[in-house]
Amino acid sequence: MPEPHDSSREQLKQHFAQRVIHQAHHILEIWQRLQHREWAAQDLAELNDANVRLQRFAERFEQVEHVGLSRSIAEALLTIEINSGRLNSHSINELNRLMHRLSRTGLRQGEPLSPTSLSTLRKPVYIMLQDFERADRLARQLEFFGLCALPLRSARAFNQAMAERHPAAIVIDVDFSAPGAGLVLAAQAQEGLEQKLPLLFFSLLESDTPTRLAAVRAGGREFLTGTLEASSLLEKIEVLTSAAQYEPYKVLVIDDSRAQAMFTERLLNSAGIVTRTLTDPIQAMGELADFQPDLIVLDMYMPGCTGPELAKVIRHNDRYVSVPIIYLSAEGDLDKQLDAMSEGGDDFLTKPIRSRHLITTVRNRAARARHLKSRMVRDSLTGLYNHTHILQLLEDCSFRARRESKPLCFAMLDIDHFKRVNDTHGHPMGDRVIKSLALFLKQRLRKTDFIGRYGGEEFAIVMPDTHLNAAVAVLDEIRQRFAEIHYPAQPHDLFCTFSAGVVQLHEGNDGLSMATYADEALYRAKRAGRNQVLSGE
Ligand code: GH3
Ligand code: MG
Ligand code: MG
Repeated sequence: MPEPHDSSREQLKQHFAQRVIHQAHHILEIWQRLQHREWAAQDLAELNDANVRLQRFAERFEQVEHVGLSRSIAEALLTIEINSGRLNSHSINELNRLMHRLSRTGLRQGEPLSPTSLSTLRKPVYIMLQDFERADRLARQLEFFGLCALPLRSARAFNQAMAERHPAAIVIDVDFSAPGAGLVLAAQAQEGLEQKLPLLFFSLLESDTPTRLAAVRAGGREFLTGTLEASSLLEKIEVLTSAAQYEPYKVLVIDDSRAQAMFTERLLNSAGIVTRTLTDPIQAMGELADFQPDLIVLDMYMPGCTGPELAKVIRHNDRYVSVPIIYLSAEGDLDKQLDAMSEGGDDFLTKPIRSRHLITTVRNRAARARHLKSRMVRDSLTGLYNHTHILQLLEDCSFRARRESKPLCFAMLDIDHFKRVNDTHGHPMGDRVIKSLALFLKQRLRKTDFIGRYGGEEFAIVMPDTHLNAAVAVLDEIRQRFAEIHYPAQPHDLFCTFSAGVVQLHEGNDGLSMATYADEALYRAKRAGRNQVLSGE
């Protein structure tokens, strides 16, 4: 017999279910923290404890998805333990995959939770301005972008909120509650925190150097003045918080001695870096294409081909011109080291090497290389993939979708009557709308989708593993929400809409023709009156 509906009981259940979310969140925090250092046994123990608690809460409050995930995490941690606490590439990848999934889970039952499940898991941003109404308006605007924002009225409310939960970021007026008091309050909040929170200061008026200096000393990462506008604030928050986003570095170790290679792998793995080894240098190009490493650790002397020779071969291929190559060798002759460096190497490390030295060098080089690469494939205004790269991604994804018999969708978006925005409000306002749509798409689409800026006010989206009807539904939802954003402007606030065309990969088309058909569908959407999503072939 079904249980009688009892709303207070339901509320209680909801309340407890929140604990599952908090616990999941705690696990993700530990995971993020681990990305900045070598892992010690106690880190794994801490992760394990947190996971045991998650599993218990999840079982008790019937969160099936969390139960499944926590069991998988427990298994992954057990494998590491069996390896006597040693991480290997497989376990790093597996944990990373599970953490990604965990970060996307929400509560499955009980609809009436007001912030959406995603933003419940996502940490909130605390907002404290002198004018509470303004903070409240700003928070609501940020929520349009899928961010969870909490305006706070007083220092007490802030301290209480801090005690309950650390935010993703803090936005605070330097003069919150009293002149200069915001600075003091923020500094106090950061005290004793192992990892500082992203802190953005705001001042209504342009501030003098002593105030700015005080903001820096209080741990401020940004100093904003004048009108505080949701989309530019969001952009700043995005930059500050995405530094914490993590994808393990991938390193290809090329060494003819398997024992030496294993030793190197073990050191790197212990810092959460994923590795692959190649003992036959002749296979290097195939391995590079398949593994797409962030960096190569190369031996100097190998039978058949020396390290510097191989480095030259690698550098001949445009795709790998900027992959850092680090020599790791017992060669002590400085002249030989320098020769090797001039042949396409980036660094020379001599054996025996201290693990910190190797790990730090690899991390720094890999981080720089990733950053450079992202600049090459990304559009500078929006940070989205550029035209060339999004089409390459479409090609890659269509091959993969075929091979794995999975659906794939491609969409093209174009902002409606954008010329009018520029004409009426000026080019900078136009730029702001473009940027905010870019951010909006990033926030609303899945992490596995690829978003590109196709041209001026046109965007392209590659959606792996997605059927046409699902793609249309998602984009239509985004279309409706985007139209609700208003940009403060004179004499009236500004609203924008967009039109879109979506297609799915099928027998008769490929990446290139998908782009054509999507464009046709977009054109039809424009002709049919704009502000709509249509599907094509
Ligand atoms: P439709 O609804 O048919 O798409 O009309 P539209 O006005 O949006 O389309 P049209 O292609 O005629 O005009 C696009 C305008 O977008 C023209 C161009 O000046 C402007 N634009 C292109 N790139 C940028 C940019 O990076 N920044 C700004 N502010 N404007 C841009
Ligand atoms: Mg347009
Ligand atoms: Mg256009």
